[in-house]
Amino acid sequence: MSLLRSLPKIDKLMAHDAFASFNPTRLAPCVKAAVEALRQGILEGTVTHVDENALVQEICARMEESLSPSLVPLVNATGVIVHTNLGRSCLSPVLLTRATAALTHYTNLEYDVQKGRRGERYAHVSRHLRELLGVEDVLVVNNNASAVFLILNTFAKGKETIVSRGELVEIGGSFRVPEVMSNSGTTLVEVGATNKTRLSDYTNALTEHTAMLMKVHRSNFSIEGFSEEASLEELVGLAKEKGVLDYYDLGSAYLADLPYGLSHAEPSLPKLLVHNPSLVSFSGDKLFGGVQAGIIVGKKALIDRLKKNQLLRMLRVDKLTLCLLEETVKAYLGGETHLIPTLDLLLRDVKSLEALAKKMRRQIGAEKCDIVHSQTYVGGGTMPNRPIPTVALHVKGEATALERRFRERHVIGRIERDRFLLDLRALLKEDEKPLVEICKKVLNA
Ligand SMILES: *Cc1c(COP(=O)(O)O)cnc(C)c1O
Repeated sequence: MSLLRSLPKIDKLMAHDAFASFNPTRLAPCVKAAVEALRQGILEGTVTHVDENALVQEICARMEESLSPSLVPLVNATGVIVHTNLGRSCLSPVLLTRATAALTHYTNLEYDVQKGRRGERYAHVSRHLRELLGVEDVLVVNNNASAVFLILNTFAKGKETIVSRGELVEIGGSFRVPEVMSNSGTTLVEVGATNKTRLSDYTNALTEHTAMLMKVHRSNFSIEGFSEEASLEELVGLAKEKGVLDYYDLGSAYLADLPYGLSHAEPSLPKLLVHNPSLVSFSGDKLFGGVQAGIIVGKKALIDRLKKNQLLRMLRVDKLTLCLLEETVKAYLGGETHLIPTLDLLLRDVKSLEALAKKMRRQIGAEKCDIVHSQTYVGGGTMPNRPIPTVALHVKGEATALERRFRERHVIGRIERDRFLLDLRALLKEDEKPLVEICKKVLNA
């Protein structure tokens, strides 16, 4: 019990020189918790003497720990490039540097420098996006889910929107097309069957209350076997003929040809835009490879109406988004796709992955791992059921234990047929060397 009496008093400990720079409000609970842990240790007999210096050091460590960031970098060795749980697309450090000045200063976010008066927030990235995509106008909102909501709410509230039964999808748990539609105020009119919807189904469902023909990209699943759907071209034609709007929730968009037959699986955004749709929306951070945003492209008169919807104020993007998205768009315009990591990784050929695998295996130790050829997916609700080739290091040993030990060091791999794989398809260049070092540590521990 004398040990308990030798525990330092909280007030006295709080006044210790080592804590002089700490905010007392944050310090107090930390000191109390550390002293309490010591008291418990004494009562349980695990602590046999009180070392005040050690206690002070532990409190300092706790204070530092309490300020450690919650969001930390991870090494993506899953093989999935657009990994929703790992934050989808990454930003190149080069693009971040280009945006730094505007992000760390006052800007012309809503100020027209030439005219010396209030300017328009949405004008910024839209100039470059218009040039890149050749569309009449563009509007950027918080994410594609909000783009869908804003479009339905603006043009179809209190009216009917026709959608194919095969496209009433759920994407990522919290985005269900039927629910989003009903929340936006539009009435969903389902047409066709799960596997087959024809243009005539839309034609037959048109009434005087129809506002819009909506097409939704299925994104995270595909229909195999007998299936049929109306093309965007057909929907645009029908909408024009009947005087209603057409809207395509595309989800993920890509611009230039993709390898591994992906371009044959689905048309690129430019190929869709040839049909002159009224409105198309997609995510900024899926295959497009930028930051989180919902990008709406289409007719100027329609975009103008979207801008007048009060809801836009709730969905508007910060200068951070505008600035960073603009850098990605400029990289496209300047032909610098190597600065868009999502594309750079997807375009990487198997030979270069093999060469990387060989180099890493040599550095890690040839007896510790094998090189395996496998398949992976783009991810993020893009191109489901479209495997792409990849190369991985199969780390020898018990797979679940290895998975955990790598994860503890912030490397996320994957298990395939009871083998732990470090898949190189989605590995950022910056992470190659650190991954070798982590491998050595894990495997020599
Ligand atoms: C991903 C996706 C969404 C949601 O987009 P977020 O940018 O995640 O909000 C909506 N519709 C489709 C078809 C999608 O693929």
